[in-house]
Amino acid sequence: MSTDTTRERERRRRQRERLRRRRRRRRIAAAAAGAVVLLGLVFVVWTVRERMEAGKRAGESGDIIVLTGSGAETAAGLFGEGPGEVRPDVAAGGETALRDGEDGSADPAAGEGNPQLTYVPSTTVQLTEGQKHTGDLILVSSSFGYDFEANEETIHLVRIGDSQSWTYPVDKEEFMVARHIMKSLDAMIHDCDQTMGTNETGISSAYRSMEYQQNVWDEAEEEYGEDYAKSYVATPGYSEHHTGLSVDLGIFYDDGSYGSFTGSENAAWMASNCWKYGFIRRYAEDKTAITGISNESWHFRYVGLPHSAYMAEHNLCLEEYLDFLKSSTSAVNPLVYTCEGTEYSIYCTSESVIQKPAGRFEISGDNRGNYIVTVSG
Ligand SMILES: [Zn+2]
Repeated sequence: MSTDTTRERERRRRQRERLRRRRRRRRIAAAAAGAVVLLGLVFVVWTVRERMEAGKRAGESGDIIVLTGSGAETAAGLFGEGPGEVRPDVAAGGETALRDGEDGSADPAAGEGNPQLTYVPSTTVQLTEGQKHTGDLILVSSSFGYDFEANEETIHLVRIGDSQSWTYPVDKEEFMVARHIMKSLDAMIHDCDQTMGTNETGISSAYRSMEYQQNVWDEAEEEYGEDYAKSYVATPGYSEHHTGLSVDLGIFYDDGSYGSFTGSENAAWMASNCWKYGFIRRYAEDKTAITGISNESWHFRYVGLPHSAYMAEHNLCLEEYLDFLKSSTSAVNPLVYTCEGTEYSIYCTSESVIQKPAGRFEISGDNRGNYIVTVSG
């Protein structure tokens, strides 16, 4: 009996042991399954977030998110129009779009109410009429007036005295330039003065409104006669000073008197070095037949790099440079130019829909009916 009892106990003990092991295996399996489900959930949430971010980025860049499967309308409502700096009418033909699957079929992987987003990069950029008349390369001359309306929203003027990063002379406190040229202007005047060992280079004229230019013209005509005014002062509406991209430089002495910029060492330094800061000497002596303006050693115009570098290297005034881009470049045959270690592709086009460049790009009008596309990187 005692042997049987012992065997029975042993059998039950083993049975309990087996049950314990089975339960432990089940618990481990359940925990593992739980972990897998959790990881899966994390992955799904991450993927959805990524796709939504991609959707937002595409909205900004003008790319298109194609939505397939059901629930399309809900997701379309989520993204809407492209936000940010890019104008909606510039982005991808104005269509920062979410649309249903082309063939109407849903992705087989897409469950009910579970839309699938597919990233489709846009291949074109739509340019506006206004962009032909705005930007750093616009030509404003006796033949091409400044388009105040087109530039009203794109140009941001700031007072030089309030915005300069170091103190150099500014003749009148109300003098303004386009905000985006301030850094270059500060650096150019700084480096000129450093080289001269003085603090005498300053601003004697900057942005001019229509009314201001009219006063300048009237005063010049009254004081020096019509011939002088025609040679040195632009007709109101046709002055480069309207752009906010031009300045006249002068010599300002400590005692409050002015020196002549023409013939000064500062003028010579500026003529040779302004291109490094994106500026050009706009009215040179050897270009008067083209510009229609007499030699002005003091007048500098911002066009930005790499354009200022190319123009300096090839001794081209703005009219000549724009003529060259118009006659010799196209989207498939751009000017390829390396400046300060960066390779640029530059071309002129009158087409309002262009192929989207692969790198960073800037658009400027030439104010003569064309766009200049500058691609870097
Ligand atoms: Zn000027």
